[in-house]
Amino acid sequence: MKRVENEVNVRTQNDHSIETILSLFRWVFLVIAGGYYYFLLQGTSLSFLVLFLFGVVYMTIAEFALHRTPLNSKRYQYMTKLSVVFDYVAFLWLIALTGGAESSLFPIAYLIILHVSVYWKFIGGMVAALLLGGGYTGVLIFSGYSFTGEGLVGYLLDFMFLIFIGLLGGIIVSRERMMRSKNTQLEDIARKDFLTELYNHRSFQEDLRYCAEEGNPVLVVLSDIDYFKAVNDQFGHMVGDQVLRKIGDIFKKQIGTSGRAYRYGGEELAILLDATNIEEAKERLETIQLAIRNTTFTADGDRFSITMSFGTALFPFENGMTPCLKLADERLYLAKKQGRNIIYWYDQYIDKSSRLRP
Ligand code: GH3
Ligand code: MG
Ligand code: MG
Repeated sequence: MKRVENEVNVRTQNDHSIETILSLFRWVFLVIAGGYYYFLLQGTSLSFLVLFLFGVVYMTIAEFALHRTPLNSKRYQYMTKLSVVFDYVAFLWLIALTGGAESSLFPIAYLIILHVSVYWKFIGGMVAALLLGGGYTGVLIFSGYSFTGEGLVGYLLDFMFLIFIGLLGGIIVSRERMMRSKNTQLEDIARKDFLTELYNHRSFQEDLRYCAEEGNPVLVVLSDIDYFKAVNDQFGHMVGDQVLRKIGDIFKKQIGTSGRAYRYGGEELAILLDATNIEEAKERLETIQLAIRNTTFTADGDRFSITMSFGTALFPFENGMTPCLKLADERLYLAKKQGRNIIYWYDQYIDKSSRLRP
């Protein structure tokens, strides 16, 4: 369902904004390099022209990957990570062409290190700093740089700053990632049920509202374990808890990304299933019912199985979400009344006289 996808995308969205900013920086440097080539070198350096054209081609491909491929796709992931290699080569090339140690473009290395840290955190920041430092040293050696006196001090300071930025960038990103995972944990605690690890009643109400706003077809399902009290009475509440946990696992596994399961309360579970294809949604619910019925539980050497009853309503064909929930509840009651282990479908007639509960 859309809501599930949206949450997965939040993390990638954050990284995407960093990629967009870095891409903008690259364009700025490309314009500066173009100006440098045209005005200062008067278009005389062939090497510079090759680098510039290489940059334009790469940037065009990268821009396409950044804005035209889905954020979670493999191509997007490869492209954003590959850009680090391009940055590395372009940086050393640019430094060599713009005066080596004299080049005012050296701080580009800091941006590259920070970029690497985003994906490979502390280790990445340090490795990037060392590789950039090594490459920079190579460029200086090739350009006949004098590693003595003031030259040596300047070189060592440049190298030291790379290491410092690598350290700091790595620490900042590692800390941010730790906070992010703590946040996710806290969100999970607030939104999920401890025993079954299904979403809790509060999430159910929130998602109902969200689905109502979206307006897409949703199969609203309320379900209840049949004769669950007997399980507790016979085997004890611990076994009852295990049964609930196992049922939660089956629900999660069977539903996948086509919806969400919730612990509505006690031994009552709810499902919101994407009903864009209603036949698929119906089949899925039947599979869940069957999977529960076919599961064997063991306790004190005894083997037993359980069944569940289901009441369903189809949003938006049966008015708003609240009436749908009420209808699903009524149908669950009728499923129980008609003998249990039944799915009472959304298009089944509700006999008004049988609506009243004893
Ligand atoms: P029915 O088919 O009519 O639903 O019968 P039932 O026995 O399932 O229904 P009843 O409402 O009589 O009993 C529900 C039982 O569910 C009683 C309660 O102790 C048990 N229950 C609710 N939540 C939990 C839980 O978290 N753990 C355990 N072990 N039992 C629970
Ligand atoms: Mg109940
Ligand atoms: Mg029950």
